[in-house]
Amino acid sequence: MPRIVVPGLDDTLPVGKIIGVGQNYARHAAEMKSSPPAEPMLFLKPSTALVADGGEVVLPDASSDVHHEVELVIVIGRVGRHVAERDALAHVAGYAVGLDMTARDLQAKAKGKGHPWAVAKGFDTFAPLGPVVAARDVQDPQDLGLELLVNGELRQEGRTSDMIFPVRTLVAYCSRIFTLEPGDLIYTGTPEGVGAVHAGDAMLARIDDWPSLSVSVRRG
Ligand code: MG
Repeated sequence: MPRIVVPGLDDTLPVGKIIGVGQNYARHAAEMKSSPPAEPMLFLKPSTALVADGGEVVLPDASSDVHHEVELVIVIGRVGRHVAERDALAHVAGYAVGLDMTARDLQAKAKGKGHPWAVAKGFDTFAPLGPVVAARDVQDPQDLGLELLVNGELRQEGRTSDMIFPVRTLVAYCSRIFTLEPGDLIYTGTPEGVGAVHAGDAMLARIDDWPSLSVSVRRG
């Protein structure tokens, strides 16, 4: 099981559940030709999808259209079940920038059939995660700037103030379904500007002045 370092914690945390939130920014929902969801739309990725800074995203043979989605990632630090929104941020140990890699062609096929997204979202290396910033060093998780560059070119730019469901709502909502445990991750959704990556590309994801996430892309 992969483990992550959270500044200020003596022990590393084992990554358990990786929860993804779909269409949490109105302009991304629009570019996907969807209307914004009335309640958070969740999916899961396996912990084997995790990649650390400096790692590689491996494009699977099964897809010819793998997209980047830059996102704020919540790192859970405390067990929580039926957490109230007002208490939700106390369950957050830290935050990081992450990439919710998505096989868009497989996702479109699954959507068309009403099938789940597990395959489109769950391949090995489909969850790059940047270095974690301690929650106490993040003044307001809803006032952060997200950026994604591919080969030095800006592809995505957004602000967490545009989230449809903010961090405290997502933590509370998820905790009513899954018991949240230390080391669980919530990928909170992407702003607009998603697009394909190809073998040989270099992705650089960042949030404000936090340590950035660099990942290269190769064909499997
Ligand atoms: Mg996403």
